[in-house]
Amino acid sequence: MLDDSLTPEPFERLLTALLELPPSQSAHEYGDGVAQLLLEVIDTALHTPPAWPQRMAAVGYFCRHARPRLGLDSLLDLQALLGQYPARDEGDGEVARLLWNVEAQEPVRALRVLVWFMAAYDITELVQQRQELDASRVEAQMARELLEDAIETLPEAFALYDKDDRLVACNSQLRKVYPLMTPLMRTGQSFEEMLRHGVKAGQFPEAQGQEDRWIAERMHEHHAAGTATLQQLPDQRWLRVHERRTRGGGIAGVRTDVTELVHKEQQLAAANAQLAQLSTTDALTGIGNRRHFDERLANEWNRGARQQTPLALLLVDIDHFKLYNDHYGHVAGDHCLRLVAQALACCVRRADEMAARYGGEEFVLLLPGTSLEAARAVAQLCLDGIEALALPHAGSCTASALTVSIGVASMLPVAGADPSMLVDAADAALYRAKKEGRNQFGLQPEAAA
Ligand code: GH3
Ligand code: MG
Ligand code: MG
Repeated sequence: MLDDSLTPEPFERLLTALLELPPSQSAHEYGDGVAQLLLEVIDTALHTPPAWPQRMAAVGYFCRHARPRLGLDSLLDLQALLGQYPARDEGDGEVARLLWNVEAQEPVRALRVLVWFMAAYDITELVQQRQELDASRVEAQMARELLEDAIETLPEAFALYDKDDRLVACNSQLRKVYPLMTPLMRTGQSFEEMLRHGVKAGQFPEAQGQEDRWIAERMHEHHAAGTATLQQLPDQRWLRVHERRTRGGGIAGVRTDVTELVHKEQQLAAANAQLAQLSTTDALTGIGNRRHFDERLANEWNRGARQQTPLALLLVDIDHFKLYNDHYGHVAGDHCLRLVAQALACCVRRADEMAARYGGEEFVLLLPGTSLEAARAVAQLCLDGIEALALPHAGSCTASALTVSIGVASMLPVAGADPSMLVDAADAALYRAKKEGRNQFGLQPEAAA
């Protein structure tokens, strides 16, 4: 009768089937098969440790079916009734007749055990618990369906993980944004396993070549579940990932496709960079413009004041350029300006030095950390560079080739003072060079005096 191999699960099923039978039916009406099952249930209950839920369920069964038949209101009534019958087969037979209308000893023996169960447990509560469990299972299922319906209506991709970081639910949009990870998108799957699979499958281009580091960083972000992050997908697609902790310690994540936004931002950034480049470059010569020079002058002046290092400036002016234009034409004049600009640009060597077009046919060389002596050497370099160009200048009364005059100044910047004083000093030096016959450099007044 007793089947030791009966596992809790089929046993539970048997009980459920029995519990669903209408209580008014007699054992005859249940049929032999059901009666047999009933005996198995009772026997199993008899041989099951008291704490097992199956045993509780057996008691529940008895409470529902046998007690109404007996018309007993309380446990005491039942015990009193059983007490009238001595523990003899005939007596048990009577109980059996009373309970199930069957002439069988086995059910009666089992019933005695059930009565013992009843004495040991608060049966009402057990039955109630079982009913509540059933009800909460239905409720949980309904809640899950509601959740699935709700997240499916979201335009964004959504995933919910429990406190152990295992997938609870996700919508079809998530499968669309991570097509290479769909095989692993199952309830109960851990976030890390899905991520690792995705990295291997090439779902995350940013991870390529630095897989472990990328996974570690992504796991950290995921667990921090705070700030929104940008995530690259194949084919230049982009997601914004928002993750938040749920009250139960899980993580809810929403992913929005921001590809268009990112592409627009990239275009804008490229346009801005180009604009910044244009705004600091002289269109004709391609070297720095006046604006760029003014900014750099202010910065280097302040830096020099802070670090107590000299700042030198060379102001370069093409000699008789009006006559050059008059003689060769404006287009040739422009070409000449480009050549002079390039020659002067070749005279700045260090990264913090710069050559710029100051305006018209005038250029500047800004040389941070450069003494007057060193600036003078650079001025000579410039004169040599222009000479090397050997551009014929038929209109010049200074030389047969194009020449320049240079004003050289260098000073220790003073914090708060106007850096234009350096330009003024170089301008005065240039005036001096022009006056002295051009094609030369002049030094700032104090130095020359
Ligand atoms: P000086 O030796 O005293 O400096 O004589 P200069 O002729 O060079 O000086 P001036 O200031 O009299 O003339 C400068 C000339 O530079 C006048 C102007 O036409 C010319 N110039 C200024 N900007 C440009 C330009 O962008 N392109 C061309 N082709 N010429 C320019
Ligand atoms: Mg000039
Ligand atoms: Mg000139």
